[in-house]
Amino acid sequence: MLDALSDRLQHTFRRLGSSGKISEKDLDEALREVRIALLEADVNFKVVREFVARVRERALGQEVLNSITPGQQVIGIVHDQLVEVLGRDHEAMRAAGDGPTIVLIVGAKGSGKTTLAGRLALRFKKEGRRPLLVATDFERVAASEQLQVLGQQVDVPVWVEERAVPAVDVVRRAMKEATRIGANAIVIDTRGAVALDDELADELAAVADEVDPTEILIVVDAMTGQEAVTLARDFDEAIEGTGVVVTKVDSDTRGGAVLSVREVTGLPIKFITTGERLEALEEFHPDRFASRVLGMGDVMSLVEKARDTLGERDMKDIAKRMRTGQFDLEDFLAQMQQMKEMGPLSGLLDMLPGGGNLAKQLGGASLDDRFFKQSEAIIQSMTIEERRHPDLLNGSRRRRIALGSGTTPADVNRLLNQFKDAKKLMQAMTTGKGAGGLMRMLGL
Ligand code: GDP
Ligand code: MG
Repeated sequence: MLDALSDRLQHTFRRLGSSGKISEKDLDEALREVRIALLEADVNFKVVREFVARVRERALGQEVLNSITPGQQVIGIVHDQLVEVLGRDHEAMRAAGDGPTIVLIVGAKGSGKTTLAGRLALRFKKEGRRPLLVATDFERVAASEQLQVLGQQVDVPVWVEERAVPAVDVVRRAMKEATRIGANAIVIDTRGAVALDDELADELAAVADEVDPTEILIVVDAMTGQEAVTLARDFDEAIEGTGVVVTKVDSDTRGGAVLSVREVTGLPIKFITTGERLEALEEFHPDRFASRVLGMGDVMSLVEKARDTLGERDMKDIAKRMRTGQFDLEDFLAQMQQMKEMGPLSGLLDMLPGGGNLAKQLGGASLDDRFFKQSEAIIQSMTIEERRHPDLLNGSRRRRIALGSGTTPADVNRLLNQFKDAKKLMQAMTTGKGAGGLMRMLGL
């Protein structure tokens, strides 16, 4: 996530950490690099200026210079200031009073509004609610079709009208339909803007007046940086948003939008999206995000993601097998297959402490397919007996498996080592002190 920024910050702090005691000059040097890293990530310059000033002030106030671990302390302060800039607390989606939850999605053309509508519909469905998607983008013929396709994909009804009529009329009829079919979570997709003109502002205001939305989410495309942030502020001034969703926070975006939008608009970031798959929607937690930017990982989000994908029962099952040391190569295979469902491996590694570096060592984006295919082939070339008792795998068996899977004995050895590491890690996670507590906290 935000690879370039993350790399630069980690590099800066590694240098600071290795120097033992630091002088005020060292601190300023490091802060200068932080400033450059943020500006290069396209963070709003005022936000950067204040950010660096606050970190400096706190660092001097806390006598970091006299500390024996100054690097660690500066990282702690930077982390804390990042959390502050990102909004400090997690803000959940608002709950409607008695009536249905109504979400109005607005923002720039191509920013990911329609996709977000589909993602939210899916999320509501998973929560056991009955969503209805509403199309009001008549500018492009393909736009309502796109929403219909998404609706089919997540099995949610879509309200679309044939003729171009005022959006507010469409929405009025859609609300009647919602009542008729008992929908209780209505997601309204809208036409996008390149710049916000009066016509669109009026159109959206009329829709908002008509339905009184629970949430008005302004979509901000992370790829377009400060431009998107400025547009978000325009939208907020015109129709008063309740929150922001930053899209396309995939690994190669610079990140300036995420780090500026809260300070510039005053609106909380409620979600981020990190890929084209519908599942790539994450609730936004400032502290977790800051940890990911600084390469400290985000185990909580990883566990939540696993729980979403695997379901509670599977998680408990696996956890039990891990605890009792029964975890074998068959489980390992199943787990890899489930990980594939969870989305790109490089994204998952971002959530582990130091995982970003690991992803790079393993070969970055091309890693996923090759890695999974090869590992699957190797395990599938083993007999059931061998999968359950990896100790049986002597040299001649390994050669046979390599032949059968079109790999080399070295590949087989590598996989077995990974399996051993995974097993060790899991036992530490389930029985060890720190992470064991984490698992208990999660009820596993
Ligand atoms: P709209 O014009 O605002 O409705 O935008 P769309 O929902 O049609 O999305 C525009 C493009 O952005 C589509 O190709 C989406 O697949 C893509 N997209 C949306 N969200 C993300 C994301 O989080 N990551 C990436 N990489 N692409 C995304
Ligand atoms: Mg659209």
